[in-house]
Amino acid sequence: MAMPIYMDYNATTPVDPRVVEAMRPAFEEHFGNPASRTHPYGWAAARLVEKARASLASLLGGNPDEFIFTAGATEANNLAIKGVVWGRTGKTCHVITCATEHKAVLDPCRRLARDGEVELTILPVDRCGRIDPQQVHKALRPDTALVSLMLANNETGTLHPLPEVAQICRQRGVLLHTDATQAVGKIPVNVHELGVDLLSLSAHKFYGPKGIGALWRRRGVPLVPLLDGGGHEQGLRSGTLAVPLIVGLQRALELCCSDLECEGSRLAALRDELRRLLLNSIPGVEENGDPQHRLPNTLNLTFRDVEGNALLASLPALAISSGSACTSADPAPSHVLLAMGRTSREAQASLRFSLGRPTTAAEVEKAAELVRAALARLHRR
Ligand code: PMP
Repeated sequence: MAMPIYMDYNATTPVDPRVVEAMRPAFEEHFGNPASRTHPYGWAAARLVEKARASLASLLGGNPDEFIFTAGATEANNLAIKGVVWGRTGKTCHVITCATEHKAVLDPCRRLARDGEVELTILPVDRCGRIDPQQVHKALRPDTALVSLMLANNETGTLHPLPEVAQICRQRGVLLHTDATQAVGKIPVNVHELGVDLLSLSAHKFYGPKGIGALWRRRGVPLVPLLDGGGHEQGLRSGTLAVPLIVGLQRALELCCSDLECEGSRLAALRDELRRLLLNSIPGVEENGDPQHRLPNTLNLTFRDVEGNALLASLPALAISSGSACTSADPAPSHVLLAMGRTSREAQASLRFSLGRPTTAAEVEKAAELVRAALARLHRR
């Protein structure tokens, strides 16, 4: 059977062959443990890691020693949220986040709340999935330790007004963490321009390998580690560094950043074409997300007149998702779309198309044709 057309690049991306090539020496000749200080095998591996750290700093801002390598964004988010909360010495502690965050932010926050370690405020969004910075302002309390707000939403592509929120947080001396997993590699990201204190990212979202990510932490932000052990990464993330994956993350980010604008416009044009082909020609289709503040590659549509499961099941030739891949084992409707005011039925009858580097105009046309045919079949039933 021919493989379906892949339009699920927000779930994950293939590793770029140039990234695989860059990783190879770190698997083979430079296999040493960067923590081995007594011989050249260790020194060579340590040099590769430090080169990667310096590259991240030059591409995303910040200092090289502010990047902590993790197993991905789930770990980076957990480290940022639990690390800040556990680093607080005060008695009570308040955390603010948002209803459309990824589970890798919502669940650690909820666990801390359940365990009585924090009081949690989950802010709502508007119909486009955006937060109003004034709501953050109103929710701040004297004991607020952290605001965690994603940069780009994985289901709709909506971008939050992070710099405005950062300004509010800074005025009140509150730390701001952003889960930038879906933004890094797709749009320009700079920790200073955003004004955040902590930022999470993951390589497999931008043509790097799975199992590697990073948390950028502004120097001086108190953080308690999740793992105890050999004291790697300045004691903040013990465990032998995954040198080949770190090199892969570096190379993948360099490649994305070298072509960010061009590729962004190409994807936005393809996304707009897909939108035109589906939205304009089929009745009962509505778009989810912010028309202006959004990622270039993501299109989320609600098909009002059909039943969600039937719709996805009728599109075996398309690899797309309804909601995010991380929760697709869970048949519940998307919490993101519900928070944006969609009913359960509408949320279930929604599809996320996320385009990527290999996506072509022919694929977009074919995808639109497949959706149109599937809808026609479903309507005839
Ligand atoms: N945050 C967001 C916004 C994501 O899209 C994802 C991946 N679906 C994650 C966090 C988790 O990333 P990882 O797979 O690297 O743990």
